[in-house]
Amino acid sequence: MGKHIPIRECICCRRKDEKQNYCRIVKTKEGFFVDSTHKKEGRGAYICPACLNDPALLKKRPLDRAFRQKVPEGVYAALADAREGKA
Ligand SMILES: [Zn+2]
Repeated sequence: MGKHIPIRECICCRRKDEKQNYCRIVKTKEGFFVDSTHKKEGRGAYICPACLNDPALLKKRPLDRAFRQKVPEGVYAALADAREGKA
């Protein structure tokens, strides 16, 4: 082993963990995506499982803060799907 493990910070609670444990949202030229592969090119933001499961996530709108713009409702809906394991 001895492999470098990439660490990311949750955009909601600032907790740090291995990025593979986090949900990645990426902003590309085509728009925002929940990036389950963690490989899509673009600016990414990470959310930890605890925050993903927080019912207040929609109200807190952490993505709007992270990307400094209004993130479409559909992206938050996609997050809810990711939480339920559909994405
Ligand atoms: Zn978090």
